[in-house]
Amino acid sequence: MKIGVLALQGDVREHIQSLSDCGVEALAVKTKSEIQSIDGLVIPGGESTTIAKLARSFNLFDLISDRIKSGMPTYGSCAGMILLANSIKDAIEGQESFGGIDMVVRRNAFGRQVDSFETDLKFKGITEPKIRAVFIRAPWVESVGADVEVLAEVADPAGVNHPVAVRQGNLLATSFHPELTGDNRVHKYFVENICQQLATF
Ligand code: GLN
Repeated sequence: MKIGVLALQGDVREHIQSLSDCGVEALAVKTKSEIQSIDGLVIPGGESTTIAKLARSFNLFDLISDRIKSGMPTYGSCAGMILLANSIKDAIEGQESFGGIDMVVRRNAFGRQVDSFETDLKFKGITEPKIRAVFIRAPWVESVGADVEVLAEVADPAGVNHPVAVRQGNLLATSFHPELTGDNRVHKYFVENICQQLATF
């Protein structure tokens, strides 16, 4: 099983490390043939507008979007979550996403860079202890369609809960960055519950 980490911008190396620690072959991907050759994809945190623009200028956008929609297991963290959303709030003008998850995501929902924070989360499908979640100018999920399963939620300063981890079929997205904590359980969830279940290799 070969899992690619989209290497246009963002924290690629940390995801490669987390995936390797789960025992799969993990590699940075940034060409058409690399993207065609993988069994699963991780879209890292970074800046969603930049990743989308670079995917367009390198002519990768439609290939990635098509592979996601035809069932390739894909996990997006933070900017990656935004790129998997069918609809984005507080997007810049003309901002595109690969789409695939029937949800509305609000960019920078928790505030500006200074409002980055960490907390411990219950994550459906991952046994205790709770997951340490690092939020960096993170989005939250405003609303989800009927086929989307909410795996974790966080309360905003007003006490209202918002989904921060969701799954729809072959697609997983988190607002936070599990690749930064040395705890590989979210990557393991992706590898075991999505990649190994759906793989066609
Ligand atoms: N705010 C960033 C964006 O809109 C995401 C931040 C992150 O990935 N840590 O893309």
